[in-house]
Amino acid sequence: MKVMKFGGTSVGSPAMIKHVARLISNEEPKLVVLSAMSGTTNALAAIAAELSRGNISGASDDIGTLESKYLETAGQLYFSEGSAEKARRHIRDSFSLLKGVAERPFSSVEEKIVLAQGELIVTMLMHLYLAETGVHSMLLPALEFMRTDKNGEPDMRFIRRNARKAVNRYPHNRIFITQGYICRNAAGEVDNLQRGGSDYTASLLGAALDASEIQIWTDIDGLHNNDPRVVSSTVPVRRLTFDEASKLAHFGAKILHPTCILPAKLRNIPVRLLDTMDPSAPGTLISDS
Ligand code: ASP
Ligand code: MG
Repeated sequence: MKVMKFGGTSVGSPAMIKHVARLISNEEPKLVVLSAMSGTTNALAAIAAELSRGNISGASDDIGTLESKYLETAGQLYFSEGSAEKARRHIRDSFSLLKGVAERPFSSVEEKIVLAQGELIVTMLMHLYLAETGVHSMLLPALEFMRTDKNGEPDMRFIRRNARKAVNRYPHNRIFITQGYICRNAAGEVDNLQRGGSDYTASLLGAALDASEIQIWTDIDGLHNNDPRVVSSTVPVRRLTFDEASKLAHFGAKILHPTCILPAKLRNIPVRLLDTMDPSAPGTLISDS
């Protein structure tokens, strides 16, 4: 099985969700890890910041704005009114949960619940969209198997045991979808793997499931020899070792979350960086040699 992670811009609009759905709709067994639609986690973080300052009305306005955006997305994404309505029901549930959070005392427990909604919503949107196009998928709740220990580090034994159990429950299923970034902590509360942590989820799950490959799909055709936002005419590097890649990530290569290499390296699972908008481009392969 392959693990395929799509980042926020890769699912940043109804058109992009449809495009990713086409990329994953084939017979190859895969676990698809999604991070929230671009802009959502920032919006949720802003709402959490307002709530922690006690600005309830500001937060409520922003919750309403984000909800409208998602209801609009649902309206554009589905061709059948039945699917759109199903999606809207889920969206309204997520946002009534947020409105409920806004009404009670705010702590870091509530903050994590707020931050988790982007990944929970986008995976549901994708699952329903695939169903509408006649493609069967299973939505696996990451909160059942992604867990950190009392030091805040991924609890690899728990993740391995429970992710395998979740997947093995459906031996004939080809496409699994789950949330990046979110997890439970040692106390069982909703938590996350830090901003940008969906890459880490993909790598941890790739390691847990002994995946044949971990693919990180973003909006650039691999890791470049220089920062393309600063330097013109950069070229993608086609091959890197795990050590080279983790150094580059630590020194700020934005394409990859720095922690993401280690789980893959420990189980020697190749990581491929691919471009959602140019799916046949070779990208960058990170492996043992
Ligand atoms: N959605 C989360 C964030 O924006 C996680 C991720 O994108 O990897 O930080
Ligand atoms: Mg994101």
